[in-house]
Amino acid sequence: MQKRWITAVIFCLAVILMLAAHLSGRNMATPAFTFAEEKKTEEKEIYLTFDDGPSTKVTGSILDTLAQKGVKATFFIVGDRVRGREETLKRIAAEGHTLGVHSATHRYDLIYGSLEAFRKDVSACAEVIERCTGIFPRVYRFPGGGRHPAEEEILKEMGYKAVWWNAVCGDEEIPHADAETLTATAVETAEGKSHVVLLLHDSAPHRATAEALPAIIDYFLENHYVFKAF
Ligand SMILES: [Zn+2]
Repeated sequence: MQKRWITAVIFCLAVILMLAAHLSGRNMATPAFTFAEEKKTEEKEIYLTFDDGPSTKVTGSILDTLAQKGVKATFFIVGDRVRGREETLKRIAAEGHTLGVHSATHRYDLIYGSLEAFRKDVSACAEVIERCTGIFPRVYRFPGGGRHPAEEEILKEMGYKAVWWNAVCGDEEIPHADAETLTATAVETAEGKSHVVLLLHDSAPHRATAEALPAIIDYFLENHYVFKAF
């Protein structure tokens, strides 16, 4: 009887000792700074995406900045805007940026009129890009954005990856925004995101976007983002 009592006491003591060792070990293994360290070393990435081009001056100036900074981007092309700007489209491809389909016409009534019209619009834009650069595009951006389940199925069938965005510079959303406002909007809308797809525009009215680009790139470089293209 006494032997059993002693065994029980020893067992309880062993459990208490094991618990104490486990808890102190856990404290040692998880010092307070671990979480912050992990956050700092987590890779952050940004995709710069330019819609609605090509244009002559704005796209050219954007390409100059991208070359100076050594950054690659993705350009979603409007097929009808390529005529007379073939050299600009060729330059985008030659400098290693990604070309994507945005639309042949950018006219919503034509693009979204029917699924057949949608398919034709995608093909027509892709043909223009391929004829001019020899590159067959594999990424797509919906004019006006938003989700389009039936059209997304068609894109999948055609072998395209649809790409949306999760941050904007405001060059379409804020009328007559200057370069400083566009930079601030890009920073603000990307806040707290480690994967950023930034929407910008390189069609002719968007000179301020080209002006803002060096500061936008500098901000993300300084904040340890890696620049990627689709
Ligand atoms: Zn667009």
